[in-house]
Amino acid sequence: MEFKTIIEPFRIRQVQAVRSTTREERIAALENAGNNVFLLKAEDVLIDLLTDSGTGAMSNEQWAGMMRSDESYAGADSYYRFEKAVKDITGFKHIIPTHQGRAAERILFGAAVQEGQVVPNNTHFDTTRANIEARLATAVDIPTPGSHNTQSIAPFKGNMDVSELKIILDQWSDKVPMVLMTITNNSNGGQPVSMENIKEASGLCAERGVPFFIDACRFAENSWFIKIREEGYENKTPLEIAQEIFSYADGATMSAKKDGMANMGGFLALNDDTLAEKCRSMLILTEGFPTYGGLAGYDLESVATGLYEALREDYLAYRVRTVAYVGDRMNEMGIPILQPPGGHAIYLDAKAWLSHIPQEGYPGWALANTLYREGGIRASEIGSVMFGQQPDGTEKFSDKELVRLAFPRRVYTQSHIDYVVEVLQYINTIKESIKGVRIKKQPSALRHFTAEFENLN
Ligand SMILES: *Cc1c(COP(=O)(O)O)cnc(C)c1O
Repeated sequence: MEFKTIIEPFRIRQVQAVRSTTREERIAALENAGNNVFLLKAEDVLIDLLTDSGTGAMSNEQWAGMMRSDESYAGADSYYRFEKAVKDITGFKHIIPTHQGRAAERILFGAAVQEGQVVPNNTHFDTTRANIEARLATAVDIPTPGSHNTQSIAPFKGNMDVSELKIILDQWSDKVPMVLMTITNNSNGGQPVSMENIKEASGLCAERGVPFFIDACRFAENSWFIKIREEGYENKTPLEIAQEIFSYADGATMSAKKDGMANMGGFLALNDDTLAEKCRSMLILTEGFPTYGGLAGYDLESVATGLYEALREDYLAYRVRTVAYVGDRMNEMGIPILQPPGGHAIYLDAKAWLSHIPQEGYPGWALANTLYREGGIRASEIGSVMFGQQPDGTEKFSDKELVRLAFPRRVYTQSHIDYVVEVLQYINTIKESIKGVRIKKQPSALRHFTAEFENLN
């Protein structure tokens, strides 16, 4: 008999208490936090879906590796275990540890991107865009044409528009230092990218002599979607699929806080010897010696083990099913979400759901605050607050106003998820009463982390 219930594929042997609060307490906490959930104290949050980054639960094997770690400044055993795992999975020649993904980005772009250049990506993540713009270069998003429609269903909505890439490479043949492919496409709904699309983009880059890099944060989830959705991959393991993905690239940046299953860590991996040397010199300046790159030996151990745990089929089936389950409930209730559900998160479509709030009132931000106020749930806006602020200080509204419910890895159980669904069901009954917000105070870049807001009446 094959049973169909997909269970959490682990036993829980350590727990952390969460604290319930009253609605009045949450209103006060939100007020104190400038109506910005990033500025809340975590102890005031019941279910924290702000991010899946570094928030996962580690396994007994990861903890065991951490106890076994070697903290030698140079040439530590832990580095060699880390290097072996990353090389096995990615096949790249140079493996450079960094404290997290954005450090890998800053070093790579610092070494390879110059002022006035153009970097295309299926969709840049916010830190990726900011690190390119910090080089006074332009970050261009070229997602697949259908991806702007939040309601269309397609197996690989995270794809890159390769015909658009061709136009860019034709137009600016000497201005594109590299092309990036983000898997899964986080800022575009956590949607996967097909192997076919990776191959096509990589082939075009090879033809033009332009390096092709992968932003690999959720490479394991992307591999799983290829396995279950793309013809010819159903009998391959997620590891084999990941190896094939990386074989089409010249390098990768990685936040190990995602599919590295670690609380901290990342890497830059690449084949080019000269570029690697340049990157290592920059690494020493700000991150550390090349065999630890800003990480403790025990961090390197947790990543080395975590990368393989992220590729386990039982884990990936449970992970993707959890997200799809919430998506199914939203569909039943008629709550608009970005379709289809992606790998690590559900994206509520605040523009469609709270259609009475104009974009000037930042409906995504208002919805994130409502989730906290009504249910103690913390989620993040992915919309005009996050992306609307232009480098020249002007405001440009995003085409989408989303709220991301990102699921930490191996942390919440089915009943936590059912609670989230129930809160959303309640919000659906009071949605007309939700008001927009106004920005009271903001920094000059990445404003969503620290800006303060006021509720509109
Ligand atoms: C998280 C993330 C990054 C940055 O990684 P950090 O570890 O947060 O610095 C880059 N790209 C994508 C797609 C991400 O999801």
